[in-house]
Amino acid sequence: MTSDPNCIFCKIIQGQIPSTRVYEDEKHLAFMDINPLNRGHCLMIPKDHHPTIHDIPDDLLAGLMIAAKKLAGRVVRALGAQGINLIQSNGRAANQIIDHFHLHLVPRWRPDDLPVANWDLKPGAPEEIATAAEAIRQAT
Ligand SMILES: [Zn+2]
Repeated sequence: MTSDPNCIFCKIIQGQIPSTRVYEDEKHLAFMDINPLNRGHCLMIPKDHHPTIHDIPDDLLAGLMIAAKKLAGRVVRALGAQGINLIQSNGRAANQIIDHFHLHLVPRWRPDDLPVANWDLKPGAPEEIATAAEAIRQAT
């Protein structure tokens, strides 16, 4: 089990910092977010310390998504949510605060006016979309 002694989520996994756990298996842990966007907002994390999506092993990520699917169903059924967002951020520019891979599960009810997946649709410049697409296709 990889761990970072300075990581708050690793401390939660090891029980050094209390958390309100809602799901746990051999490789994953989910607990309530202490700064919830909505009722039932929780976090799913791998028990191994990996900072971002660029670092987490593929098989661990795949298993985490399956665990998140299970938990998302439970959250929706338990709280009668009308929808649920799964949000995952990487890097400061993306507002990642804790450098331990985590997936936010945010239950939704209309109208909750949360600033989550709630942007206005504005058509982009076709040339800009095309050049970004070409850069992505060329990347390794
Ligand atoms: Zn950690």
